[in-house]
Amino acid sequence: MFERTLKLSEEDRMVYDNALKFFERECVPHNERWDEAGVIDREAWEKAGAAGLLCATMPEEYGGSGLNFRASTMLMEAQIEAGASGPGFSLHSDIVAPYIHAYGSEEQKQRWLPRMATGELIGAIAMTEPGAGSDLQGVRTSAKKDGNHYVINGQKTFITNGQLANLIIVVAKTDPTKGAHGTSLIVVETDEVEGFRRGRNLDKVGMAAQDTSELFFDEVRVPTSNLLGHEEGQGFIQLMQQLPSERLQIGVTAIKTVELALAITTKYTKERTAFGKPVFSFQNTRFKLAEIATEARIARVFVDHCIELLVEGKLDVQTAAMAKWWCSELQCKAVDECLQLHGGYGFMMEYPIAKMFVNGRVQKIYGGTNEIMKELISRML
Ligand SMILES: Cc1cc2nc3c(=O)[nH]c(=O)nc-3n(C[C@H](O)[C@H](O)[C@H](O)COP(=O)(O)OP(=O)(O)OC[C@H]3O[C@@H](n4cnc5c(N)ncnc54)[C@H](O)[C@@H]3O)c2cc1C
Repeated sequence: MFERTLKLSEEDRMVYDNALKFFERECVPHNERWDEAGVIDREAWEKAGAAGLLCATMPEEYGGSGLNFRASTMLMEAQIEAGASGPGFSLHSDIVAPYIHAYGSEEQKQRWLPRMATGELIGAIAMTEPGAGSDLQGVRTSAKKDGNHYVINGQKTFITNGQLANLIIVVAKTDPTKGAHGTSLIVVETDEVEGFRRGRNLDKVGMAAQDTSELFFDEVRVPTSNLLGHEEGQGFIQLMQQLPSERLQIGVTAIKTVELALAITTKYTKERTAFGKPVFSFQNTRFKLAEIATEARIARVFVDHCIELLVEGKLDVQTAAMAKWWCSELQCKAVDECLQLHGGYGFMMEYPIAKMFVNGRVQKIYGGTNEIMKELISRML
């Protein structure tokens, strides 16, 4: 690992080592097959659950390990180090489960979290629609009350874990006349309802093994007790409270990818020769790598600081947005330069740098585009 300002405990390092072994053993051998299938095996989720890799930050009474966000970042980094881009574990554990933990009733937490920790339930969060991505106020999926049920109608797209998920947090309008204040988060257990349908598993530029999908809700009836929060209309506030964590997670995976790209490219250029000399000996190569090493160090210090803030409950919207846009831009730029230093081999999918190139592009888009991040940052100026 690269030098860290974040104080990592023995436990954090153990989490990292165990996770790395898990990804290398249970995921990497299946990478090619999963890329072709566009989805990973459900069994891998159950194995991850048995290995304690799911919902690790949830309290033990809900099936988790009671770890903090620092440990979650260890899992994310181990997954990148191993080169296992398929599993959507962090979305499940560090985005979906925290909504249930933060806003769910005791009954909801008992009902869902332990089964999420074993991998029996696979989580997704469905915000984006064909007509509403950046502008979430434009969500048209509706949830109309009918006695003690909500009747959900609408369409979602680009939903991570969409083919396998059986617990989906749906962003829906419970009162279309109230804009953001009429938005609520409602949990749909797909095995329990009728009228839910999965659409295409989308063909993407990268992240081939992640099942990013369309979802359709046609008169789907769920009990009103599936609402997250004490009352309707809290959805936007809940999203605003949780999105900084999601954005920092993108920053965490971005800096880890930059460090990895730098390490493999340094090694490659020292081994590859041209004009009778290692490629590393050309000043251009050394200067490019020196620039990336410097920017990686700057990003690492900042991301470590953000992780500490999040653990202390102090990470604000703007700082998280800074981490998301700056680190994802750095990731795309640095990986592109590292690919260039591999020459033609960099364009071959059998080389890890090529996979990093295609898989990384989405980091500037999801979790809120980088343009939206700059909008958020500018609001504090
Ligand atoms: C692989 C993948 C996985 C995803 N996973 C999920 C998921 O699990 N759940 C989920 O809900 N969503 C998910 N998304 C959706 C993602 O969050 C959205 O794609 C993203 O928020 C952008 O929305 P959009 O695609 O509708 O783009 P648009 O909102 O149509 O934006 C198009 C362009 O306009 C720009 N733009 C829009 N508004 C402004 C503005 N005010 N100022 C300046 N520029 C602006 C954008 O930055 C972008 O460049 C995923 C997307 C991908 C690609």
